[in-house]
Amino acid sequence: MTLTEMPAAGLSTAPRRMFIGGAWVDALDGAVLETLDPATEQTLATVPRGGAADVDRAVRAARAAVEPGSPWRRTTPSQRGRILHRIGDLILEHGEELALTESRDNGKPVTYASFADIPMAADLFHYMSGWTTKIEGHTIPFSAAAPGSFLSYTTREPIGVVGQIIPWNFPLMMAAWKLAPALAAGCTVVLKPAEQTPLSALRLGELIQEAGIPDGVVNIVTGDGEAGAALAAHPDVDKVAFTGSTEVGKQIVRASAGNLKKLTLELGGKSPNIVYADADLGRAVAASAGAIFFNQGQSCMAGSRLYVERPVLDQVVEGLVAEMNKLVVGAGTDPATQLGPLVSREQLDRVRGYVESGVRDGAVPHTGGQSLPKRGYFTSPTIFTDTAPGMKIVDEEIFGPVLVVLPFDRLDDIVSIERTNPYGLAAGVFTRDLSKAVRTADAMRAGTVFVNTWNTLDAALPFGGYKQSGWGREMGHAVLENYLETKTVITDLS
Ligand code: NAP
Ligand code: MG
Repeated sequence: MTLTEMPAAGLSTAPRRMFIGGAWVDALDGAVLETLDPATEQTLATVPRGGAADVDRAVRAARAAVEPGSPWRRTTPSQRGRILHRIGDLILEHGEELALTESRDNGKPVTYASFADIPMAADLFHYMSGWTTKIEGHTIPFSAAAPGSFLSYTTREPIGVVGQIIPWNFPLMMAAWKLAPALAAGCTVVLKPAEQTPLSALRLGELIQEAGIPDGVVNIVTGDGEAGAALAAHPDVDKVAFTGSTEVGKQIVRASAGNLKKLTLELGGKSPNIVYADADLGRAVAASAGAIFFNQGQSCMAGSRLYVERPVLDQVVEGLVAEMNKLVVGAGTDPATQLGPLVSREQLDRVRGYVESGVRDGAVPHTGGQSLPKRGYFTSPTIFTDTAPGMKIVDEEIFGPVLVVLPFDRLDDIVSIERTNPYGLAAGVFTRDLSKAVRTADAMRAGTVFVNTWNTLDAALPFGGYKQSGWGREMGHAVLENYLETKTVITDLS
């Protein structure tokens, strides 16, 4: 089946079950929630609405699966690596089906899901599969006694049961970012997908089972924020990894205090993108449009605050408006679509509220996507000029296809505005001058700096936030640290 032949309705509407202890089960109280197709506002399928009791059941399964002597703990690092590699292969083998699932459940263009979300999800498993055999301790010389009288070394052990709570913007990719390193480290997991987009994680659960993972190693509890909160507070969860809003991130910090869970957080952003007058403007405009419009702007690292050096301001804005007007808006399942609907009515209202506030504050909107489909959570992509710090659209994360443009004269002006940015996830710079690029990258308090590019991540490169964009790093070998404990063994040889 090619993308163009893919039937728009090609996704089963059968009720789904969640994955606990190797079994596909309903919620203990039988509750369900509906997941919608944002392009049609119709129900796609129902999934269990897991509650605290289901989370508890999943945590028990995950605990049993990580106890010493369990099948997972007896799996060698090499075998673990092969399982992870197989999961990556299965994702690729089912790529078209997964891309369609992602497109229908989230609204995103199937074409982009096929070349971004799916390969990147697979790549995380492939990349992490190589690390399982390279998680090593050290033999460390001991100086408090005569040489040779003590042997001291460290080992790395899985941290234990991990709760993973993920958002709706890149459902499969976020599941992969979270699961692959946890499994590489030998942990067991309870994963809670977002209530708006549970379907691809459940399908991934089937593929994980097919890859031969022991029962209870991966558990997937569908549900809403209540299930997330139960996981964050559960006394037998050793660590929580969360991606989502800064607000919920702070709630998770509080919930984790009960048993002092280890935490990693990947939160929001309002990422500055800087275009100098000496940049290759064609490239800067195309990449800056992608930085904000990719995934309907529902990206934590969206380049949502554009600084343009004053002499090229008009030229860059003109170019961006032209790029925006070229965007094909429609249902994500249409292979021609470049901008799909937002994920939900709630997100649509939120984004529209920001656009209205920008107009009220006196910013000038340039609007694309003139003929929006009648049904579905569609919104017009918008570029605001004549903006200033202090406006909500400039200061706050919008999480939609809305760009604010600010002119600048000197890097120092940007640095002083950015000092007040609560976020620090990403930044971008476009210039042909290498030293200017490096000086600007140095000045940015952001976890990732793109130079003459945007949206170009890799499984091998650490990703995460400064400031309120989060704690810790995803991807690269840096992420493994979050899933491992270090045990120091000191032996008196006398
Ligand atoms: P969110 O509420 O932070 O949701 C993220 C995940 O946390 C979901 O699985 C959610 O479950 C769960 N959750 C909700 N309340 C929880 C709680 N008290 N304890 C534990 N888990 C909880 O994000 P959202 O409401 O979907 O989106 C709101 C805003 O968050 C967006 O507009 C955007 O600004 C930001 N956001 C950021 C990212 C990112 O990648 N950094 C991704 C998505 C959203 P439910 O599915 O039931 O809500
Ligand atoms: Mg949905």
